[in-house]
Amino acid sequence: MTKICLCLTSSSLEQNWAEIELNRPWIDLAELRVDFLTTPLEQDWDTFFKQVDLPIILTCRKECDGGLFRIDQEEERLHILRELLSKPFDLVDLEWDSPIDLFQLATERGKRIIRSFHDFTGTPSNLRSFLSDKNSESDIINKAAVTIKSKSDYEAFFGAVKSGHVEGNILLAMGAEGLFSRILCSKWGGYMSFCSSLTSQSAAPGHIDPKTMVERYRFKDIQSSTAIFGIIGRSLGHSKSPEIHNQWFQDKNLDAVYLPFPLPTIDCWNVIDQNIKLNGLSVTIPYKVDIMNGLTCSDRVKAIGACNTLYRKDQQWFGENSDGPGFLVPLLEKLKCSDLHGKKITLIGAGGAARGIAYTLSEAGAKLLILNRTTSKAQELAEEYGQVWAPLEESSNPLIREYSHVIVQTTGLGMSPHVDVDPLNFYSFDGSELVYDIIYNPKITKIMQRAIDHGCSVMGGMEMLIGQAKLQSKLFCQTLNRLD
Ligand code: NAP
Repeated sequence: MTKICLCLTSSSLEQNWAEIELNRPWIDLAELRVDFLTTPLEQDWDTFFKQVDLPIILTCRKECDGGLFRIDQEEERLHILRELLSKPFDLVDLEWDSPIDLFQLATERGKRIIRSFHDFTGTPSNLRSFLSDKNSESDIINKAAVTIKSKSDYEAFFGAVKSGHVEGNILLAMGAEGLFSRILCSKWGGYMSFCSSLTSQSAAPGHIDPKTMVERYRFKDIQSSTAIFGIIGRSLGHSKSPEIHNQWFQDKNLDAVYLPFPLPTIDCWNVIDQNIKLNGLSVTIPYKVDIMNGLTCSDRVKAIGACNTLYRKDQQWFGENSDGPGFLVPLLEKLKCSDLHGKKITLIGAGGAARGIAYTLSEAGAKLLILNRTTSKAQELAEEYGQVWAPLEESSNPLIREYSHVIVQTTGLGMSPHVDVDPLNFYSFDGSELVYDIIYNPKITKIMQRAIDHGCSVMGGMEMLIGQAKLQSKLFCQTLNRLD
């Protein structure tokens, strides 16, 4: 089974031991990054090795390989490595271009060698050669840690996976783009994956903590049968979707995992699609329109012009949009209505989210006033659904008063970190309005707080986020032949 290795980057052995204890339930071994230790040769090694109850890797990196030793300190680094090879480490990590005598000394001292290669700029097209280079010492574990920034990087990465050389070796992509490789390496027979403690400095870009690896991404349960789902978007660091969907999979006891795939460009998706058989996919900014290319889409997706959900049926991808219904269901619940006939609603914004919401509200029978900074976009959207539009400014106040059963806020104004912005600061609430802001960070935006202060009811974006994710989950479960 693929192991989880905790990278230790504290400045003393005592602190590193504390990190091991803190993360012990989730890890199988630890890599001691000696380059992070102050005065490494003067540490209390005897006490450390008496305490540890798991295999330890000796690693001492130079700057160009992601470590702390400068190039002019190379003699000192090699001296430290040679000295520490006499300690009871189980494995040693040596960069592929290390001096040959270091490899010989490590073998003489009975250490298992990890021969490592790092590329912080991209993924070399000959990546597989770093994994297949075994020579006579067959006990060597080859490790390649690369960076994925483009379609060709993905191609080189999956070329190496397909070559079969990952089995028993280590192939990982660094950074947020590489998270999938840190989790799915067990599917490819990788020897181990690395992580960093939440309470210490991350040893490499993109490390997550071991508890998240095991409990959210179920690293230890992933097998060849595990169904894979995910989300694509440009930047997914703040996405709540992995947390939400993985929790639901666990609640339903499904053999499935949901992973973030932040993509630099949409054409990278094609490479992922060809190499990882995903069952379903969430799509977010800025790929909701581009993903529709060549996809069989629902009428709703065609009408809105944006797709946020892909699911596989009969080996084919289908596109759906759950944003609109995800927005509507909690609104109807709040209003205790089955439709919106007779409701007059102001919609602030005419961007991607507003398009789906305008379609959904119109379908549900609401009369809309659409306000937008760029009035041409408000006009275009309003005319599409036979609704009314106006500029996002004070002169629209009488119209807003008329369309004030519900005020829906769909711009990014007021979103963290710019929380002090209220897109409707020129309008005074009279307490009868329901204000629904689709921003979910912060939970209470400035416009919502002002509405609360005037006695209005409010709804936040988390309700829409959960609502749209529930519909996605339903489609995802159907791909697993589950009806829930
Ligand atoms: P988008 O397509 O980029 O649209 C942005 C909208 O904001 C446009 O109407 C734009 O007006 C307006 N805007 C931007 N800067 C403005 C400014 N300085 N002053 C006035 N108006 C401004 O983005 P989107 O996809 O619709 O997303 C918008 C927000 O909805 C984001 O905060 C996103 O996180 C949130 N969202 C939440 C959920 C959820 O599940 N809760 C789902 C989807 C989206 P112009 O046309 O004049 O540029």
